[in-house]
Amino acid sequence: MKIIYNRENCIGCGACVSACPDHWVMGGGGKAILKDSKEKGGKKVKEIEEEGCNRKAAESCPVEVIKITES
Ligand code: SF4
Repeated sequence: MKIIYNRENCIGCGACVSACPDHWVMGGGGKAILKDSKEKGGKKVKEIEEEGCNRKAAESCPVEVIKITES
């Protein structure tokens, strides 16, 4: 599965970092960084084996810029 993160629209609230610090950290410009992600089509993408705390991160994001896909 993959995490797809639209960083451009992050408002920097920090909720994803609180929910899932193993994968998320606050970065420059006051926006969250998805650790070890790659740039793809203007989004940040990361392959994961298990969703783990990323589901909580996605659900906690007030602007819904974190998506988890099965493929
Ligand atoms: S929860 Fe969403 S808006 Fe808040 S820092 Fe994380 S990605 Fe950005």
